Amino acid sequence: MDKIVAFCKRRGFVYQSSEIYGGIRSSYDYGPLGVEMKRNIKEEWWRRLVHMREDVVGLDAAIIMHPRVWEASGHTATFNDMLVESRTSGRRYRADHLIEDATGADAEGMSAEEMTKIIAEDDRIKDPVDGGRDFAPVRPFNLMFETYTGPVKSPENVVYLRPETAQGIFVNFKNVTQTTRVKVPFGIAQQGKSFRNEITPGNFIFRTREFEQMEMEFFVEPGTDEEWHEYWLEQRWNWYTSLGINPENLRFYEHPREKLSHYAKRTVDIEYNFPFRGWSELEGIANRTDFDLKQHAQFSGENLEYFDQGTNKRYVPYVIEPAAGPDRIMLAFLVDAYREEEVNGESRTVLKLHPRIAPTKAAVFPLSKKEPVSTIARQLYDELKGDYRLFYDDSGSIGRRYRRQDEAGTPFCVTVDFETAEDKQVTIRDRDTLEQERVPITAVRERLQGLISG
Ligand code: ATP
Repeated sequence: MDKIVAFCKRRGFVYQSSEIYGGIRSSYDYGPLGVEMKRNIKEEWWRRLVHMREDVVGLDAAIIMHPRVWEASGHTATFNDMLVESRTSGRRYRADHLIEDATGADAEGMSAEEMTKIIAEDDRIKDPVDGGRDFAPVRPFNLMFETYTGPVKSPENVVYLRPETAQGIFVNFKNVTQTTRVKVPFGIAQQGKSFRNEITPGNFIFRTREFEQMEMEFFVEPGTDEEWHEYWLEQRWNWYTSLGINPENLRFYEHPREKLSHYAKRTVDIEYNFPFRGWSELEGIANRTDFDLKQHAQFSGENLEYFDQGTNKRYVPYVIEPAAGPDRIMLAFLVDAYREEEVNGESRTVLKLHPRIAPTKAAVFPLSKKEPVSTIARQLYDELKGDYRLFYDDSGSIGRRYRRQDEAGTPFCVTVDFETAEDKQVTIRDRDTLEQERVPITAVRERLQGLISG
């Protein structure tokens, strides 16, 4: 992990937030390469889930919603983690994690009373900081960030920063069905920031208090939900593997029935085997039934049924929800792609990112700063730069320039050399195979497009 964190900083992927002030815990900023990479992840999700499908539309709802939304969804009452305070160090921990780390038992879903009893009785459970065993009773802690709208800080002005993007979709179900021509089965997709006041954030960008989500609610006729759930499990698995994640580092995790969230009939996570924390969730794919729409119908007084004109049936749709986090996914892509290897007797660090995910798609190198090589290279760069992020580099030896791009994950380097003026050809070098291909200048754009989308 230290290696990845240092690498991310050195190459401008991720910085500690407010670093010149000593940093703020669990907040990170995405640097020049990181922002490109995260955008590519979100774009690939959007392209595959929205643009390439006729049955999914997009949405961008507000972060601050009517507070009743969170009463209806159950977040006000139950979006809690169990908090335990150590009286010896004054630190606060997630009680389930404290129990699990010390005993190996599975504490998820236990009540506060059960956890308090276990912590009191099991000597193996100690304050990780000072080894103390004097804990206050476990209590639920609501993870929603609270703030106020307007100038008066009074209880009736309390609002929340959304803890998930999904509710913005449910409350717009009626708007979308009335203003577009969608027909069940169909989905509404959304990406955006979510906020959770996590008790113990950590593991770099894996768990932060401010993060992004990519969620899609796919509305189906009740009775077809189990089939659609299977369908989306397969689709989402294929998304990762088609973007180059090693399938050996991926697995499905089926949530046991008794541990399901209050809204779910079945939930399966896609997990990634992170070297620093083992199998961990990248994405949850849940059958949320008709819970949310029914709750919002009840709390708002609106009718949120769907009328199927084909069958003349009226029903509240069931929902299959793939819910993913681009920050976590970016960490998985980085870890999966990072290699230190020996090539021709030299060592190199390389990020073997899929071209669609790589921050920079190609670099253009003039072999020399002299004419006509540099002018030809500039012209080529100017011609291609509107298509995707392209990098121009004319400093240092060609070997160094390659190594810099290998580290940044750039899949292709295009070199203009002394022959180019004569034969009107350039060389495209492949980051992974190191093979070099001679291509006419006029064919470079098409060749790169093919390689990148391949
Ligand atoms: P966890 O059990 O790890 O807290 P969760 O089950 O609460 O996650 P969901 O509510 O299913 O997470 O959210 C969907 C996705 O949003 C997660 O799979 C993850 O990728 C992302 N996500 C959730 N919480 C965070 C966070 N604190 N930081 C970064 N990403 C997050």
